[in-house]
This record gives sequence, C-alpha cells and structure tokens, in this order.
Amino acid sequence: MKVNPELIDEIKKYGAFDISACFNCGNCTAVCPLSKEDASFPRKLIRAGHVGMEEKITSAIEPWHCYYCGECSATCPREAQPGEYMMALRRYLIAKYDITGLSKLFYKTGWLQTWLTAGLFALALWIYSRYTGDFGALAAKIEMAFPVYVTIALGGYILNMYRHAIVKPLGGIKASLKPSHIIETFVHGFTQKNFNGCEETDLVRWGSHLLVMSGYTLTLVISNLHLLEPLNKHYSPFSPVSLLVWYAGFAILVGGGLMTLRRLLKSAESSKFSHPSDWLFVVMMFLIGLSTVTTLGLNVLRGPSDPLLAQVYRVNIAIETVWIILVVPFTKWIHIFFRPLAVYFQHVRKEAEAGTAFSLQLGK
Ligand code: SF4
Ligand code: SF4
Repeated sequence: MKVNPELIDEIKKYGAFDISACFNCGNCTAVCPLSKEDASFPRKLIRAGHVGMEEKITSAIEPWHCYYCGECSATCPREAQPGEYMMALRRYLIAKYDITGLSKLFYKTGWLQTWLTAGLFALALWIYSRYTGDFGALAAKIEMAFPVYVTIALGGYILNMYRHAIVKPLGGIKASLKPSHIIETFVHGFTQKNFNGCEETDLVRWGSHLLVMSGYTLTLVISNLHLLEPLNKHYSPFSPVSLLVWYAGFAILVGGGLMTLRRLLKSAESSKFSHPSDWLFVVMMFLIGLSTVTTLGLNVLRGPSDPLLAQVYRVNIAIETVWIILVVPFTKWIHIFFRPLAVYFQHVRKEAEAGTAFSLQLGK
C-alpha cells in the first residue's frame, strides 16, 4: 500500500488532536463502545494516520460510526484527543468526497465560509427587498429549486463516498439488496440511534440532535412543497400547516439552542473543540427556526398583508437561500447522510466478505 508521509500533517489541518503523543497503550480501544465489533478501533485508524496509509483512511467508514462520545479522549493518558482525531477524519473525508473542493477550502480557511455566508445573505436580502413583484410567487419558485440543487450536490458526495469505501477497496460494484439493511439505513438516518451506543447515554445530546433532525426534515418538507404561504393566506394558530410549522420551528430552536449552549459551555468532550463550521451550522439552524416561527407568528397575529411580515418573510427566505447554497452541501451539515450510509456500507462489506453481496466486477 502506498504511503504518504505528509498524511498526518494534512489531517491535522482538520482538527485539534495530537496523536504524535500516542504511545499505543490501547486505553481508547478498551473503552470505545464501537470496539466490540472491531477489537482495534480506534487505534487501527490512529496507526494508519501515523504511518501515512492514505488509502486505509480514505476508504474507512468507521469514523462515521463514531458519535464522539469522547470516552476515548477522557481516558487517554497522553491527552492525544483520539475522539477529536475521529472528528478530524470525518472532516478530512468530507473534503475528499467533495468534488468541488469547497469543503476542503472552507475547513482549511476557518471563517471564510461564515464570511461568504454573511455576504451572500446580505446580497439575497437586498435583492428580495427590492423585488417589487409578487414575492410569495418568487419564494415558491426559490423553495422548489432547493431540492434540485441539494439532490445534485448530494448525489456527487454519495457516489464519491461509495467509490472510496466500496468500489476501490473491494474492486468492483457491490451492494446489499436485503430490505432489512435498507430499512435499517433509513432508521439510522432519522433517529441517529447510534448515539445510544455509548456507555453513558448522553440524552441531552441525542435529544437535541433528534429535535434538530426531525424539525429540519419537516422544514424541508414544508419549504420544498411550499406549504407555508404567509403572504397569501391567513393561518389560524392550530391549522394543520401551523402545527407543522410550530413543531419544526420550535424543535430547531430548542435543539439548535441546546447545541449552541453546549458548545459555549464546552460541557462535554464532543463540544470542547469547535471548528468555525460547527458554529456556522448551529447558528444558522437557530436563525432558520427563529425566522420561520416569527413569520408564522406575525401571519397569525397580524394577517398576511402586514408590512413587518413581508420583511421578516424576506429575511426567512434569504436565510434559507444561503443555507441551501453555501452551508448544506459543504462541511458540517452533509455528514448526516454519511452516518446512515456507513451503516449500509458496513453490511455491504460483510456480505462481500461472505460472498453474498450483489456484485459487478469492473473492467472484466
Ligand atoms: S489511549 Fe491515547 S495513548 Fe493510548 S492508544 Fe489511545 S490515543 Fe494512544
Ligand atoms: S469518541 Fe467514542 S465512539 Fe468515537 S472513537 Fe472515541 S470512544 Fe469510540
């Protein structure tokens, strides 16, 4: 296997760990809840990084199983931060899967993504504020364009992850066709249930992720189907659309608020080290929740022709626009798809080992 002596310096650009201090004691593996299945995790990947085994790292799916419980970092006698190393690996892998190179640029330049997001938000708001036509109709077109953009971006990532994790190491196209594996992948995606694999379940962390996930998924449905038309209809506080929007907005506000608080307080191993993209993610989530709830609140209280509502709705759509264009496809957010995919790829690998996977050899 080809060795890249600069690999560890490259990965270091993605996180605050110091595995050069590691003396291979094995404590991290002993405490890691994931090492039940793989007796050398996470030490195996620490070693691979150390010695520059680049293909081993780029084909790894284990970092996606790790939910940063932080038990390894808390017990490491050398304070090498193996949990943060896993976090850095996830960022490194996102940069590898991203064909545009923007994730890599954003991770390495720290606050660039935040400044670009702020600039694009100001531009979008300026354009929306000067728009003199039917803004409700324009918003419908913008919201309906979101899923097309996200699907294209996501498709590129998934294909690249599949290429690195399955096609290259297994030498061809492999798949698991078992319905139970496909269902399990979706269940993981919606519930993030691996959080509960940690020795001590961190209910606040799991709960805040669940709130954000469910609230955000619902927000996607509401905006992509353009269910909320605040400038054209007057909603009662308990209409079906209002109830969906209240839940989505408040779930994001509470979940995003808890995430922000934990990062501010550094109250857990997983929130001790924050990359600027982590801050951008939680702050944007919070703003989406706040502007959505305020939009509906103004509609309910003051009606669809209220001038303040017209302004707040433009802010809401401007936030959604920059969120979809500059935040969703790059850095932090996209990882929510890789975790469930890693669960599926794990099954594919096991079936390939057992010779039961669907298989298509390339170039034969
Ligand atoms: S616990 Fe720390 S020193 Fe021991 S193997 Fe893990 S990273 Fe290395
Ligand atoms: S953070 Fe938790 S799950 Fe991840 S490697 Fe460390 S002990 Fe294992």
